[in-house]
Amino acid sequence: MNAYVESVIEYVKQAHASEPEFVQTVEEVFSSVSPIIDAHPEYEKADILKRMVEPERMFTFRVNWMDDNGNWHTNRGWRCQFNGAIGPFKGGLRFQKNVYEGIIKFLGFEQTFKNSLTGLPMGGAKGGSDFDPAGKSDAEVMRFCQSFMTALYRYIGPDVDVPAGDMGVGGREIGYLYGQYRRLKGVWENGVLTGKGLTYGGSLIRPEATGYGAVYYLCEVLKHENDTIEGKRIAISGYGNVGWGIMKKAAELGAKVTYFAGPDGYIHDPDGVSGEKLDFILEMRAKDPMHCKPYADKYGVEFVPGAKCWGVKDVDVYMPAATQNDVTMESAEKIAASGVKYYIEVANMPTTNDALNFLRAQDGIVVAPSKAVNAGGVGVSGLEMSQNSERLVWTAEEVDEKLKQMMVNIHKVSAEAAEEYGLGYDLVAGANIAGFKKVAQAMYEQGVF
Ligand code: GLU
Repeated sequence: MNAYVESVIEYVKQAHASEPEFVQTVEEVFSSVSPIIDAHPEYEKADILKRMVEPERMFTFRVNWMDDNGNWHTNRGWRCQFNGAIGPFKGGLRFQKNVYEGIIKFLGFEQTFKNSLTGLPMGGAKGGSDFDPAGKSDAEVMRFCQSFMTALYRYIGPDVDVPAGDMGVGGREIGYLYGQYRRLKGVWENGVLTGKGLTYGGSLIRPEATGYGAVYYLCEVLKHENDTIEGKRIAISGYGNVGWGIMKKAAELGAKVTYFAGPDGYIHDPDGVSGEKLDFILEMRAKDPMHCKPYADKYGVEFVPGAKCWGVKDVDVYMPAATQNDVTMESAEKIAASGVKYYIEVANMPTTNDALNFLRAQDGIVVAPSKAVNAGGVGVSGLEMSQNSERLVWTAEEVDEKLKQMMVNIHKVSAEAAEEYGLGYDLVAGANIAGFKKVAQAMYEQGVF
């Protein structure tokens, strides 16, 4: 490894010891960039790497809200405007009990390279709160979102920073956040948020985009391996927006999701999830996001409590689509032993670094990284921004086609970047290199600040 790269990783380990997720993502991305630093001594001179691991700006704020019984609560809010070299800051908001600086920073860093890969002009950002949406009423969520936006609105804008959803933040939350932004600013600036409802400037296909994009990316991997999606059986974790989109697009293209895992265990449905089962999942999730067992009860299929489906043999593709560090070394060993050929990450950083490197080292497993595979979500957010600024609406077919092209291109530039540095078909390194190159060059050309 290049000595400068090594020294910056070492620095991050020391300086951010209390933020293991952030250290993990920096190690993962920078472990691929040595050849670029070797080829560009001017980057070291301009200290590009050390500047890259420091957010341009990150702030925390207080969010007070009243519950339905008249009790006041105090939560913490964050926004991390990580890197704005190639476009306005862009990235989601996560509302989850376990959110703290390290999670927001890891997601913001990852977002910088992911957004770069989309080919659209978007910088990297992330934000959120340790607010726990579980069991909250609509009115409580509304009051929380209004308070959150009251603290945030001065620091965002269509050309400044454009938040969106992430875990715990969907269409409902974006609606309340936008309502409060409009009320405070008194202008129609709907390009300030993405993932909006269709009645006020949301883009068709945005809710499904991450899952659809992941399946389009999978199709490109299969094409490269002289294989097709037809008849493929897929095991996923997570059945939120993203997992649901994977199920739907897979079914549409003649494949099927035969396993899916939730917080309480996993489901095995050999016929695959399609048709009205997709609607049932939406209902089940709305009633209780923590349990997928009702699906097994309804359709008379197998439910394995308290376990993950990593290691099952009767599938062709694994797609972890739940959350970070879902697949550890123990699961990776089972995956390698299963003989399944395709390991396609979907959630942000779903694999620990040791497990990811272990899987990459296996002969006969193709590994694809989440920052490329899930980039269709933010990619369609970029398309939503374009529609908002031009005051026009694209049809679902138009957006879907642009999404597909974007995923084809992300796969292509990743494969080419790895090829260029003599790494073969290494999609993990390729995505890191391709995403990094554009950001590094933009920072370099804009001078040191
Ligand atoms: N939170 C999503 C992600 O991880 C979407 C971000 C966005 O649309 O801005 O990429």
